[in-house]
Amino acid sequence: MKKKIVILGTAHGINVGGKCSPDKSFREYKYSREIIKQLKAELEAAGYTVIVDIEADEVPATQKVELASRCAIVNKICKEYGTANCIYVSIHVNAAGSNSQWLNAGGWCAYTSRGKTKADTLATKLYEAAEVELADYAEAMADGKKSGAYSEKQRPFRTDYSDGDADQESNFYVLAHTSCPAVLTENLFMDNMADVAFLESEVGRKAIVALHKKGIVSYFE
Ligand SMILES: [Zn+2]
Repeated sequence: MKKKIVILGTAHGINVGGKCSPDKSFREYKYSREIIKQLKAELEAAGYTVIVDIEADEVPATQKVELASRCAIVNKICKEYGTANCIYVSIHVNAAGSNSQWLNAGGWCAYTSRGKTKADTLATKLYEAAEVELADYAEAMADGKKSGAYSEKQRPFRTDYSDGDADQESNFYVLAHTSCPAVLTENLFMDNMADVAFLESEVGRKAIVALHKKGIVSYFE
């Protein structure tokens, strides 16, 4: 049987400043770890080997060391299991500002490193899954534009078709320095009140877990 190794990347750490909602009720490091815990259990139940890059709440003190150690962990696993059997998915929550005030941006997106790689295939699968699992969210965003929760130009799925597929291209360190296909998801906005309410809800948490699971499973099929 083909090996299916999923490496999940947690966002930041308890010791990293910012990365929270303006009222500080929502913290990105914590949400990412909670989603990953559930996703890991569900993928393992489906027969996947799942490894979390940094499971602890605390991360190395400088971002440079933190990101380098995440990549070292991923690349070591790739070496051990075979790069072709591995994928890396880093799970984040977006912000439109500096986390000091509520803003009206929203939406889901995924980033890959620049150029056409197998990560684009993985990202496309994640977008397809997001469109299914976040269908209710997309509808709520349309209503939210009327109430001012979202600005007119917001889209539920933020895309960049400049290279022919939906994912946004970025040279995020962990995407550029990992040997297997790597995608970073930005799961809505922690400085949008409506997005935070959705993320924290039971329905929202299930949808975020489900879209990752569905996208990953469909990539390996
Ligand atoms: Zn982040």
